[in-house]
Amino acid sequence: MKLAIMGGTFNPIHIGHLVCAEEAVSQFELDQVLFMPTGLPPHKEIRKGVSSGARFQMCMIATRDNPLFEVSRYEINREETSYTVDTIRHFRRQQPESDLYFISGADAILEILEWKDPDELLSMVMLIGATRPGYPLDRISGNLEKFLQAKKVKIMEIPGIGISSTMIRDRVSEGKSIRYLVPEGVRRFIYEEGLYRKA
Ligand code: NAP
Repeated sequence: MKLAIMGGTFNPIHIGHLVCAEEAVSQFELDQVLFMPTGLPPHKEIRKGVSSGARFQMCMIATRDNPLFEVSRYEINREETSYTVDTIRHFRRQQPESDLYFISGADAILEILEWKDPDELLSMVMLIGATRPGYPLDRISGNLEKFLQAKKVKIMEIPGIGISSTMIRDRVSEGKSIRYLVPEGVRRFIYEEGLYRKA
C-alpha cells in the first residue's frame, strides 16, 4: 500500500491542489491520497473567521468524486500544534507495512530543515514538493540536496496552474469570480458561508 498524506492549510482547497494530488498518484503509483488540513500550524496564523471545520468541509466536497482521495480530521481534531512529524508517526504506527509519502508545496518542503525532527521525519516518509513550471529550483539548499540524492525528497512539477489559496481569497473579497478555479461545490460553499468577504 502506498499512502500519501497531502498536507496543507487548504484555505481554501482549489483546482491546483487537486491536479497536484492527481499528478502524484500517477507519478508515484499511489493507492490513496489522504488530504490533511492543518489544525494549528506551527509557522503562521490562519486567517480568523474560517474555521478548521469549514476547511475540512471544503476538502470533503472537493475530493468526493475521486475514490483514491480521502480527507482526515486527524490534525484538526488535535489541540496541540500540528507538527508533520507527529502526524507521520501516528500513521507509521497505524500502517507499519505501508510506504508513506508526504506531499506539499515546494515552498513549504524547502523549509523542512526548520521543522520539528526533520531527520526522523525523512526516515519515515518520502517528501514530495510540488512546484509550478519556472519555479527556481536553485532555492534547494545544500542540506536538502543530500536528501534529494538519498531519494528522500522529490520535486514534482505540476501542470502550469497559477492558482493559489491567496488568489482565491483575494478574488472573493474583491467580488471577482472564482468559478472553475475551485470545484463548483467549494465555490457554492464559500458563498453560502460568506467566507473571505471584506469585513
Ligand atoms: P504554506 O506555507 O501556506 O504554503 C506554501 C506554498 O505551498 C504555497 O504556494 C501553497 O499554495 C503551496 N501548498 C501548500 N500545500 C500544498 C499542497 N498540499 N499541494 C500543493 N501546494 C501546496 O504551507 P502550509 O499549507 O502552511 O503547510 C504545508 C504543510 O507543511 C502542512 O501540512 C503543514 O502542517 C506542514 N508544515 C509543517 C511544519 C512543521 O512540522 N514544523 C512547518 C511548516 C509546515 P496554496 O496557498 O495555494 O496552498
